[in-house]
Amino acid sequence: MALIVQKFGGTSVKDTNRIKNVASRVGKYRLRGDQVVTVVSAMGGVTDNLIRLASEINPLPSEREMDMLLSTGEQTTIALLAMALHSLDLPAVSLTGAQAGIVTDGVHSKAKIRNITPKQVHAMLDEGNVVIVAGFQGQTTDGRITTLGRGGSDLTAIALASALKADLCQIYTDVDGVYTADPRIVPDACKLDEISYDEMLEMAATGAKVMQSRSVEFAKKFNVKFEVRSSLNNNPGTIVTEETDSMEAVVIRGVALDKNQAKVTLVGVPDQPGMAARVFSSLAKAAINIDMIVQNISHGTATPATDLSFTVDKPDLAKARQVIGELQSEIQFAETIADEDIAKVSVVGVGMRTHSGVAAQVFEMLGENGINIEMISTSEIKISVVVKGAKGEEATRALHTAFLGEET
Ligand code: ADP
Ligand code: ASP
Ligand code: MG
Repeated sequence: MALIVQKFGGTSVKDTNRIKNVASRVGKYRLRGDQVVTVVSAMGGVTDNLIRLASEINPLPSEREMDMLLSTGEQTTIALLAMALHSLDLPAVSLTGAQAGIVTDGVHSKAKIRNITPKQVHAMLDEGNVVIVAGFQGQTTDGRITTLGRGGSDLTAIALASALKADLCQIYTDVDGVYTADPRIVPDACKLDEISYDEMLEMAATGAKVMQSRSVEFAKKFNVKFEVRSSLNNNPGTIVTEETDSMEAVVIRGVALDKNQAKVTLVGVPDQPGMAARVFSSLAKAAINIDMIVQNISHGTATPATDLSFTVDKPDLAKARQVIGELQSEIQFAETIADEDIAKVSVVGVGMRTHSGVAAQVFEMLGENGINIEMISTSEIKISVVVKGAKGEEATRALHTAFLGEET
């Protein structure tokens, strides 16, 4: 008898037929004698719809109320899935994140899991139930409902697998596994049999939304090996695990596209010590994550000044503008420009540690395709560039052909 954690994303539970399909898949494992904990997301599109409703009422809604609202999406699915299992004569019980013992910090909309005490989960498993847990949510020690960031049901599943010491963790989605690029954008992308935590982390952090990046960070830290696979067929998926020596032989594992970032530029920031610290500490206090940063001295101004550009997730843009607006009288920069029409394209691979020249090849390929680069950032195993929004998909395909195409 194994203890299995299975997570089904929004697309896998997007309507009642898909929920019944999930119930029969979960039921098969339960009937062969396994203990099954099932984590589910909101039905596809529900979270986006709730966000839209909130924005129609208030452009900057209270973060506490926003989490209260968004947590309802997952709660609908857990109850419906429990009912679907009951229809198959299988004992099942649903639990909210709080009931499953998921305790978080108080940072609404991107809370971090502090600890998990899955007492109720164990008790209900021991009674023979399939235990269905609402993904994406937790509760603070003072009883406030929190959410774990978009795509956060992945994190719920991985963290529960770790806390329960599960034998197996499966992430079911609407594609067969992790591909060399989003198969919807690059039709000749290939499914990977395995990928290292670091590569999966960089792919996720740079836009491959098949896994939430924080969930991969957690899996790496607590060594939770997991499989990404399809809820619509029985094909083997992709194993995400520790790096092996053979993985370094491949220079580029994948290409990722992120269209969910916005660029903010502060024009004419006085060229004095402490300015960047002032800007980024205020943004950090507001829990706004910054990705890329570029600073350039402006020439031709009477007093030395710099232009400071950085990227944030699009949903954080309104808050970032508010924080920056509050700094303007103190820092005296000339103006703020926000650009939502950008795309970030990244190539990722642990082999980059031992192979040189990848950056040059990326820039050459984009140049040959007439694609202008606005920002660049690199890590040991990743090169990212920001390009115009409309050029994102073209750049992704060009880089996939260059590094992962059949003739390479
Ligand atoms: P779920 O609803 O199961 O959480 P998501 O929509 O969050 O699913 O993630 C699955 C989607 O991720 C796929 O439909 C695919 O379009 C997209 N995707 C982006 N990059 C990749 C990649 N490298 N490999 C596989 N899928 C990817
Ligand atoms: N429902 C949440 C979202 O859409 C969490 C998830 O799907 O994992 O982001
Ligand atoms: Mg997802």
